[in-house]
Amino acid sequence: MPEQNYDSRIPYEQHRIHAAAIYCSDGRVGEHFDDFLQNGLQLPRYDRVALPGGPACLAGHPQATFEEKSVIDELQFLVDVHGLKRVILIAHQGCAFYSTRLQLQDHRLELVQKADLVRATAMVQSVTKVNHIDAYFARLIDNAIRFEPVEV
Ligand SMILES: [Zn+2]
Repeated sequence: MPEQNYDSRIPYEQHRIHAAAIYCSDGRVGEHFDDFLQNGLQLPRYDRVALPGGPACLAGHPQATFEEKSVIDELQFLVDVHGLKRVILIAHQGCAFYSTRLQLQDHRLELVQKADLVRATAMVQSVTKVNHIDAYFARLIDNAIRFEPVEV
């Protein structure tokens, strides 16, 4: 086990921007999420709520009850302590949470994910009282990821 310090050269900025994103913890798309939120939506230093399936756990699936409770606690914390005013929800194509935990694999998966974004938005709204909530579907196109707005 190496005992070496590492100094990150990224400057620390104390100011919060009062926005959070809820997305899947899948590391293959983590940097794409960052790029979209920081550069596409101009939300630097946004708060991250990352877990398998992301907003899927707020859509009322009985297989995700524990995750739902924990994300709701986390959102409440972000509202109380970080003054949360805006929430972004992102679902992504080929999410393993849907194929394994929810056992959904058919071609209508994208429709289920989009319906879940609608349900998750309502859940976030009722729990946090935050009204500025946007949802996106991250689609794999060739070797890139496209973020498409989803009406919620
Ligand atoms: Zn995923």
